Amino acid sequence: MRSSGGIHFLIVRDGTGIIQCTMKRGTVDDALFEKTKDLTLESSIEVIGKVVEDKRAPGGYEIRVEDLKVFHRAEEGYPIAKKYHGPDFLLDNRHLWIRSQKMQTILHVRAKFLEAAREWFKMNGYTEFHSPTIITAACEGGATLFPVKYFDREAYLTQSWQLYAEAAIASLGKIYTVAPSFRAEKSRTRRHLTEYWHLEVEVPWCDLNCIMKIQEELLAYVLDVLYDEMSRELTYLGREPDDLRRMKPPYERITYDMAVEILNEEGIRFNWGDDITWTHEKILTKRFDKPFFITHFPKGVKAFYHKPDPKRPEVTLSADLLAPEGYGEITGGGQRIDDAEELIRRIKEENLNPEDYKWYIDLRRYGSVPHSGFGLGVERVIAWICKLDHIRDAIAFPRLINRVYP
Ligand code: ATP
Ligand code: MG
Repeated sequence: MRSSGGIHFLIVRDGTGIIQCTMKRGTVDDALFEKTKDLTLESSIEVIGKVVEDKRAPGGYEIRVEDLKVFHRAEEGYPIAKKYHGPDFLLDNRHLWIRSQKMQTILHVRAKFLEAAREWFKMNGYTEFHSPTIITAACEGGATLFPVKYFDREAYLTQSWQLYAEAAIASLGKIYTVAPSFRAEKSRTRRHLTEYWHLEVEVPWCDLNCIMKIQEELLAYVLDVLYDEMSRELTYLGREPDDLRRMKPPYERITYDMAVEILNEEGIRFNWGDDITWTHEKILTKRFDKPFFITHFPKGVKAFYHKPDPKRPEVTLSADLLAPEGYGEITGGGQRIDDAEELIRRIKEENLNPEDYKWYIDLRRYGSVPHSGFGLGVERVIAWICKLDHIRDAIAFPRLINRVYP
């Protein structure tokens, strides 16, 4: 609140946003006008008044207050002031910082993104399916597993719903989920959380090309909805809404081999068979102004379940989608092995124990079909769409290597 010339200007927030309320001396009870002077930042109030258009007000409208009731007068000294606060301070005060206009706006965009995605799944005949969070076998490799003490044995937090999704397609057909995945990421980057929301899709009778098209159609729809319904919010966050139009599919596809060539051209020493890390992705994204797919990764850098290309078995029928502007990988996926013998061979090649994957191998023994899927990191996409410089702001309460509070 600020006051000038016999008017109090109050900025009032509810779940939909903020609005300026003006209280003029003489139009309300004198006692109320005086008492309002003492209102503290973040107090809870009820306002009665008239909504009027006013070009000078933020958002173009204001409420002319006729009555005001204080439900809770907040304590003095709200920790978050107008001055600059460092990221650690804001993370310590995250329970309050999520009230900020920046976080409120991001969380609205995030909710709209998921709402639009669910709409697309509904229109296209997908069923939502949920898998367990406590699991026993790794999906993305053991290095990033979080152990859980499960009575007198050890279990883990899931890294992906995928293995269970492959079981569920035989029951439900095309499926999706939106659920947390857990990864004990030991490197500190601007794009890794230890708990993140994973939007995953699994589709029977679908090959690599088919699953890339599904990602394009889903993103085309979601970007349209955000353009139509969130332009004001995106502009506030520094994202030009027209960028979303520009970044619509179709997306270019380059093979891993071509990516290696580009990196070499850029003077990076990169050997065929190495994993493409964020540093490399950043360089690659400079060549594109829209998202693009990298396909056919070598077996060695992908998990055991990726189907080797029958025409060239040292590479897999896999595809990552990378966002431009340096954001990098936002989805990973591809075609799964659907033959039992081939799967067992790959499990052994990776020094895993087929016994641990018995139920998963069963899926190739009883009515196997070609199938594909992908996983999209919700916070990665929100960071890109909202043009954030760190993934932590794409989620309300980020879990990072050094942060599990609040
Ligand atoms: P990266 O190489 O960036 O660590 P990944 O290859 O481990 O990613 P996948 O196993 O393919 O990722 O997971 C699917 C998607 O989940 C990724 O494309 C990404 O969008 C998201 N994702 C993966 N790990 C994280 C994480 N630690 N924090 C946030 N999102 C993640
Ligand atoms: Mg990873």
